[in-house]
Amino acid sequence: ADLGNKRRITILGSTGSIGVNTLDVVNQLGGRDAFEVAAITGNSNIALLAEQAKACGAELAVTADEKHYPALKDALVGTGIEVAAGAAALIEAGARPSDWVMAAIVGTAGLAPTLAAASRGADIGLANKECLVSAGELFVKAVAEGGGRLIPVDSEHSAIFQSLEDDQHHAVERIVLTASGGPFRTWTREQMAGVTADIARAHPNWSMGLKISIGSASMFNKALEMVEAKHLFNVRPEQIEVIVHPQSVIHSMVGYSDGSVLAQLGCPDMRTAIGYALTYPDRPTLNVERLDFAKLARLDFEAPDEVRFPALRLARMALERGGVQAAVMNAAEEISFHAFCAGRIGFLDMADIVERVMEEMTSHGSATTMDQVFAADAEARRRAGDLIARNELAA
Ligand code: NAD
Ligand code: MG
Repeated sequence: ADLGNKRRITILGSTGSIGVNTLDVVNQLGGRDAFEVAAITGNSNIALLAEQAKACGAELAVTADEKHYPALKDALVGTGIEVAAGAAALIEAGARPSDWVMAAIVGTAGLAPTLAAASRGADIGLANKECLVSAGELFVKAVAEGGGRLIPVDSEHSAIFQSLEDDQHHAVERIVLTASGGPFRTWTREQMAGVTADIARAHPNWSMGLKISIGSASMFNKALEMVEAKHLFNVRPEQIEVIVHPQSVIHSMVGYSDGSVLAQLGCPDMRTAIGYALTYPDRPTLNVERLDFAKLARLDFEAPDEVRFPALRLARMALERGGVQAAVMNAAEEISFHAFCAGRIGFLDMADIVERVMEEMTSHGSATTMDQVFAADAEARRRAGDLIARNELAA
């Protein structure tokens, strides 16, 4: 690495599954000899956040939760690392100058700090799909106005990004998102009705954070990814296909007007997509498992079942209706996810609640400002909360 010319990076959500993998990639690519870390952020895992800050030499460490400020301060006393807490500090972490920002906070909490990074023109490695689902065109516009690049980290979208040929957008017929099908791929609705969060979080192929693991079981993760794809690749809803592919080896595909289909394959390991986003347009050398095709022997595909997994139908509905429907879907899903994990509602209730909130809010048009996005998001959360409370009273 060129010592005089270190890349300045920021990791929003460094303590999560993507954040930890990002730091691993950074270390594989030279660590402190190659990178200067402007800021890292976490939430409740203060011990890990402090350990990471010391190891990577971060200038600033932020916890989202103000009540953890004293613990973080204590853990980093005498290190010279700046410490801060709360919503404004998260935005400050995104706003502080750096060349590249990993957006890996989970949920809509990641929106404001990622926007701060996008607006100042940083290149964004986007893991946080929720901010794109929620703010859509406005988020894409903020990136364009800032002048930085938006490089997807979600494995499917990284695969599509890698399979898109320059200047051939007019020849793209369809994009095909692969889905593992999650732990309940072969289950009936009756079987799914009684599952707990502990059962639902056990993903067959990927090791990930809690929300995306539950979202893989309900296929709400794929629902969010359909909307994410629309905004990243500027395609029409009918150009977005989903195919269940249980091995998660083909990470997604692009179909062209000549009948060709280009795909990106690999072992299910997020470090490949993270490394690609970090060094784009170069490819890094990474110590990850290589595909062994003889061992693999076969790849399977099956059509998704929208009756057992209504999330896919809801995503299609959100895409067709446009406006703030995707933001509403995303917000209601986040609230339902928390209620499911708390044991307040059943697994299948999540999609019911999301659909009802979407129906209640069909008259809301497009958002032309971020404030309107936040307002629709807040209203969807309130409505979802009301439905969950009524559901409990009835039970
Ligand atoms: P995670 O739960 O493991 O980590 C989330 C991170 O966000 C942690 O650093 C946590 O401290 C922080 N955080 C949590 N709540 C917060 C709040 N209210 N305010 C600020 N920070 C908060 O999640 P993850 O699996 O790493 O996923 C992160 C994002 O990446 C999600 O948007 C997810 O959809 C996306 N993603 C993850 C994977 C994966 O393999 N894990 C793959 C594709 C996309
Ligand atoms: Mg994905």
